[in-house]
Amino acid sequence: MHFAIVGAGIVGLCTAWELRQRGHTVTVYDPNPVSEASFAAAGMLAPVSEVVWDQPNLYPLMQRSKKLYPEFARSVAEASGMDVGYLTSETLVCAGDSADRVTLNELTELQEHIGQVHRLSAREARAMEPALGPGVVGAVHIPGDHQIDPRKFCAALLSLLGDAVVREAVEDVDKLTADHVIVAAGLAQIGGVPTLPVRPVYGDVLRLDVPEYLQPLVTRTVRAVVRGRPVYVVPRGDGTIVLGATSREDSPGVSAEGVHQLLRDAHHIIPGLWQCTINEMTARARPGSPDDVPMIGRVSEHVTVSTGYFRHGILLSVVGAKLTADIALGKPVDPETQRAIDPFRFKEHS
Ligand SMILES: Cc1cc2nc3c(=O)[nH]c(=O)nc-3n(C[C@H](O)[C@H](O)[C@H](O)COP(=O)(O)OP(=O)(O)OC[C@H]3O[C@@H](n4cnc5c(N)ncnc54)[C@H](O)[C@@H]3O)c2cc1C
Repeated sequence: MHFAIVGAGIVGLCTAWELRQRGHTVTVYDPNPVSEASFAAAGMLAPVSEVVWDQPNLYPLMQRSKKLYPEFARSVAEASGMDVGYLTSETLVCAGDSADRVTLNELTELQEHIGQVHRLSAREARAMEPALGPGVVGAVHIPGDHQIDPRKFCAALLSLLGDAVVREAVEDVDKLTADHVIVAAGLAQIGGVPTLPVRPVYGDVLRLDVPEYLQPLVTRTVRAVVRGRPVYVVPRGDGTIVLGATSREDSPGVSAEGVHQLLRDAHHIIPGLWQCTINEMTARARPGSPDDVPMIGRVSEHVTVSTGYFRHGILLSVVGAKLTADIALGKPVDPETQRAIDPFRFKEHS
């Protein structure tokens, strides 16, 4: 079959590669590939540390995708001959004061049902990451939460897809000539597709260079709760650091308050961070769904949508690509998953 895919963010690109692997042809349309959420993302593959209360439909998808990731990333790296930035570096989640420690302890009780989690004293955490400052009062160690560099991963996918990526915007899916159309355009509403309840949730991300004398500043992803606010520091293989991420539903530009908050909170956990140089500040929107679970399904005989990946789209892109391909090809998906991801599951839109 020939598929037209609208959107070359991580979801459209992974879906295109999955369909190619299954022997189909694809044309991917995007005026600016990898320019929206996938451009900003830190790339944490964190099914355990991302767990929050009351999202039972999200956990299984995150776990499934995490399991599928190594093989999918390996196949892309091997076929393209490019580094996709997949690292099995672990994750530490730190508490910034005793109230944050209570929050962290409560969450850890839930995380323990989902994956491997070890509670650490501040001293044990500092033994693992000597850059942690005196502000850290306790931590949890999550060895199975890894990372990928979304920019490298998407660059490898783009190179594999080559001329199949057409740098044009699609106004209306009915104008495309293909056996089936997949709409993976994040927040964009495309003509011919029913309006779905997807909303922008903006986040700021800083990219920093670490001076030679501080290398490596940290060797694991360090996440923290500081006075109730989340912050993370993701060390890349090239010695740089990604620092994020704020969350707001208004003002798309890089927020002065957001940048201040990120630097202040990260400094509380890792004081050496203030010796680093900022080389990029980015703000982009996460495509959020009302229950934080993606919306994947057929909206007509010839059109399948795949959006609403919210704050987990890098992690979920692999399972999302496989489910999108199955649904577009008319293959069965287990009923529980199908119900969880149904784009029409929200009452007011059914
Ligand atoms: C600050 C930040 C940090 C994040 N960190 C993480 C993380 O650590 N881990 C994680 O798992 N997730 C993370 N995410 C979430 C993740 O980035 C998103 O869920 C994911 O990138 C969504 O991918 P997508 O392909 O659906 O959308 P996008 O990446 O937004 O791509 C949509 C594409 O559609 C294209 N498009 C739009 N309109 C049209 C049109 N008319 N025709 C053709 N193409 C069109 C756009 O140009 C764009 O390239 C983060 C997000 C943000 C913003």
